[in-house]
Amino acid sequence: MYPAQFEYVRPETLDEAVRLLAESGGEAKILAGGHSLLPMMKLRLAQPATLIDIGRLPGLNEIRVDGSGVTIGALVTHAQIASSPEIKRALPALAQAASVVGDLQVRNRGTLGGSLAHADPAGDLPAVFLSLDGEIVARGPSGEKTYKGSEFFVDILTTQLGEDEIVTQIRFPTLLAKTGTSYQKFEHPASHYALTGVAATVTLGANGTFERVRIGVTGVGAKAYRAEGVEQALQGKGQADIAAAAEKAADGIDCNDDIHASAEYRAHLARVFTRRALEAAVRNAGA
Ligand SMILES: Cc1cc2nc3c(=O)[nH]c(=O)nc-3n(C[C@H](O)[C@H](O)[C@H](O)COP(=O)(O)OP(=O)(O)OC[C@H]3O[C@@H](n4cnc5c(N)ncnc54)[C@H](O)[C@@H]3O)c2cc1C
Repeated sequence: MYPAQFEYVRPETLDEAVRLLAESGGEAKILAGGHSLLPMMKLRLAQPATLIDIGRLPGLNEIRVDGSGVTIGALVTHAQIASSPEIKRALPALAQAASVVGDLQVRNRGTLGGSLAHADPAGDLPAVFLSLDGEIVARGPSGEKTYKGSEFFVDILTTQLGEDEIVTQIRFPTLLAKTGTSYQKFEHPASHYALTGVAATVTLGANGTFERVRIGVTGVGAKAYRAEGVEQALQGKGQADIAAAAEKAADGIDCNDDIHASAEYRAHLARVFTRRALEAAVRNAGA
């Protein structure tokens, strides 16, 4: 299958990329790893007049871990995240999730910025991004803007990002003491996409109760979401309450229903994988 005709440009600087995108008046698309955009173009689900290839722009493929948290350039690939000793130490669930994205070829080309900007309802990294309280930094014609993770995903393949904005960085706060993280995925055997994926970040208090819980769920609804019902149900509670809280994992969600899984089955998977992710995160917190 071939995509419709398009122009291809490769700017040398971020400023040039921002200018080209703004001048296109919504007709151009940013090309990063190409592993979501090119399949969509071949299926004619996307027909941009111009591709602006940012793949080789300098400064967007660095990982920085310091006292202020973790900063990951938009062009850092899934493979880089999965193998980074700094990420494995600072944000283990992110490395874990990146290591189960697609296959090796996908992981070598696909980028964190592309995965979040694309907002695939079954993408792995949006769920982890939500559970780790990530933020998106984007550049547009009027300068830099920061989007909170909890507000970023709007609907299927839709985010708050303006059509003239380019994601430049993804930022995460440093994990608190006694915090454990985990990502648990039930994948489609052919595509490797998540039928359900759940990321959990838990911080335990002195007596082992939950001080803070963040749950990110993917594959279940139109967009990745925080399972706030589960988070609230566990506040101040202990490990014995995990199973009951996990029952709320799909509450209020209009679950996807397709040839791969019924809505009922997806809701069931959300509950089971939320329980597993919480149990694993508690173990990883050293409880
Ligand atoms: C066979 C196959 C299996 C896959 N399996 C999985 C899987 O199991 N789990 C999973 O999560 N993903 C999976 N993917 C998707 C993969 O992770 C993609 O790499 C990722 O979703 C998009 O990243 P990209 O860099 O390739 O983005 P691209 O394809 O280049 O772009 C995707 C979209 O994001 C926009 N975009 C990209 N970068 C930016 C930026 N910096 N600023 C603004 N907009 C931007 C583009 O304009 C486009 O609309 C799979 C893909 C394939 C082909």
